[in-house]
Amino acid sequence: MGVSSLLKGMRKTGYYFFHPKEIITEQYPDNRATLQLSERFRGEVVMTHDENNEHACTGCTACELACPNGTIKIITKFDISPEGKKKKAIDTFIYHLELCTMCNLCIQACPTDAIKMAQNFEHSVYDRSKLTKKLNLPGSKIREGVE
Ligand code: SF4
Ligand code: SF4
Repeated sequence: MGVSSLLKGMRKTGYYFFHPKEIITEQYPDNRATLQLSERFRGEVVMTHDENNEHACTGCTACELACPNGTIKIITKFDISPEGKKKKAIDTFIYHLELCTMCNLCIQACPTDAIKMAQNFEHSVYDRSKLTKKLNLPGSKIREGVE
């Protein structure tokens, strides 16, 4: 029994030795530069910013409310519009990567598509506090017309 399963395994190994193009195993981390991840792979939540450092986050807190385990904390502020009106805006989007289960519920809840899943997965750090991230970039602001 043992010998027959050993031979079976050896037959597979031999096959792939002579057909290297059919190998689907990824040689990570040697292939970092060419690594292909599935489109659906979820690595971390990020906020998208355009070339003008503008985003689409209104600070509505829908993502925070949708998150089942308190991974997101939205801190808001009031901006004053040119007409002198007070308007709620995002101050800090706090994301605890160490708690995130990549369930995607926050992204589905966002009415303005301000956040998305990125594919970064090399998150190891020596200092746990580095896993707490601020997703709105320094100096960024909401894109005009996003309500
Ligand atoms: S992916 Fe899930 S666990 Fe992670 S922040 Fe979004 S809602 Fe929370
Ligand atoms: S990311 Fe989306 S859901 Fe979360 S506060 Fe900003 S606009 Fe609202």
